[in-house]
Amino acid sequence: MPVIKDVVCTLCGCLCDDLEATVEDNKITKVGKACKLGRAKTMGPFLHERIEKPMIRENGELKECSYDEAITKAAEILVAAKRPMSYGWCSTSCEAIEKAILLAEETGSLIDSTANVCHGPSALAAQEKGAPSCSLGTAKNYADLIIFWGCNPVHAHPRHQTRYSTMAKGAFTPNGKKDKKMVVVDPRNTDTAKKADLLLQLKPGTDYVLIEALRAIVNGHEDVLPDEIAGLPKAKVLELAEMCKAAKFGIIYFGMGITQTRGRYKSGDNVSSLISDLNQITKFVMIGMRGHYNVTGFGQVASWETGFPMAIDFSRGYPYYNPGETGTNDVLMRREVDAFITGAADPGAHFPQESVKHLFKIPAIQIDGYANPTTEFSDVVIPAAIAGVECDGTAYRMDCQPIRMKKLVETTFKTDEEILTEIIAKVRELKGNGAKG
Ligand code: SF4
Repeated sequence: MPVIKDVVCTLCGCLCDDLEATVEDNKITKVGKACKLGRAKTMGPFLHERIEKPMIRENGELKECSYDEAITKAAEILVAAKRPMSYGWCSTSCEAIEKAILLAEETGSLIDSTANVCHGPSALAAQEKGAPSCSLGTAKNYADLIIFWGCNPVHAHPRHQTRYSTMAKGAFTPNGKKDKKMVVVDPRNTDTAKKADLLLQLKPGTDYVLIEALRAIVNGHEDVLPDEIAGLPKAKVLELAEMCKAAKFGIIYFGMGITQTRGRYKSGDNVSSLISDLNQITKFVMIGMRGHYNVTGFGQVASWETGFPMAIDFSRGYPYYNPGETGTNDVLMRREVDAFITGAADPGAHFPQESVKHLFKIPAIQIDGYANPTTEFSDVVIPAAIAGVECDGTAYRMDCQPIRMKKLVETTFKTDEEILTEIIAKVRELKGNGAKG
């Protein structure tokens, strides 16, 4: 039985590249080395019902059609719209993302990624204060203090600890966990927290206060602090500060406990300031626990194509960026958008109710391998190959390292890149500028 080695898992931001897939009769029958989530994702095309055919909604019902008809209808919707929005593109290849950005430019659309509801505030924080970071490989080899702040890798990034952090044996931490200290900052006693050397169960929404207190201690001002900080005894905060100062190489892995709680990007930029303060004493870095396997790739491609990592508005004819004004949920909640295209994402399941209500009222186009709540309001549904299983491409890991995804099986589905390329050609034809390069 042919076993394909070094397969890349296309689920979470760990982007594990050591999986082993057994392929029989053009089907994946076994996946070795993956966590449960990764195995389910890699075998997904053979376990779950697919969108088999392109569809267009007529009289309220989705009716099967050809790829050509669906692509033409999608182009017509985008060309007719005054304020179209493109969203998602984080569970697909960088090659497809590049086409999605080109389509947005051609149609004067807004374009945004799933960072809008995830690590977008981290990007704002990095723009304001920087983000002293390193690769996961460096972290594995050097880090002797690992702080998981507002994240729960046991559930969301299951192999993070064994491949890169607490359990991994590194060049300067050859005994793995025995050479490392692990801290968790989280209001809940999560499954990750249960294994920590120190748990700080802070009051929800008080991350900024706790970061500020740590900065005060690190900068020699602990005397100004009260006895209770963020719902924690001062002694516990002092203990963490001492652990940070004593570390040879510390790292804060932060998640949505920072980016989606009170303070949002201000908490993120305060983490950056804390890292800078600690770098006066020892070596410290930070890495955002990015969720989808290629959400980092969207930020990379968008940055080098437009200068901005997300929430980009092409309506002026050049890229304009102002999250809060140009983010997906900003424009949806203001009822500003009159057409919507989404790929490799499920806003129907993950957006606030007010945004979804508006999506039901405007023409929507979905490009995806599977039906999901977004299909319920989509007027054009275009099935796509699954990147990393049915087609190859590039993805970026959470630490901005590019990794090439493999094609494991043949498929008759078009790839996201092909579908978007065909929509672009049709848009140009409809606008009468087919010759544009
Ligand atoms: S940790 Fe993430 S990338 Fe690695 S196998 Fe599990 S789901 Fe896939």
